[in-house]
Amino acid sequence: MPWRQDSVAKLETMAWCCPEFAKHIDAASGTGLGVVYVYRAKLGKMYIARYRSATSEETAGSRIYFCPWCGSDLAGWPKPEG
Ligand SMILES: [Zn+2]
Repeated sequence: MPWRQDSVAKLETMAWCCPEFAKHIDAASGTGLGVVYVYRAKLGKMYIARYRSATSEETAGSRIYFCPWCGSDLAGWPKPEG
């Protein structure tokens, strides 16, 4: 599992860099753009910009290092796990 349920709840309440990022974090169920947080013990934390088609279940994504809206360095954000 890329994350635990309790850390997803924390994602929603964390103070992110800007309102747009806060709106899109963990918006994995919608169509269009969402930002997915992934934590792996060996690789550390990653943020993936994920795009879902409105007409199919197809998705595409790429790792992002800066907020697409305000440019903040995402490496500076703490892990929701603690
Ligand atoms: Zn931002």
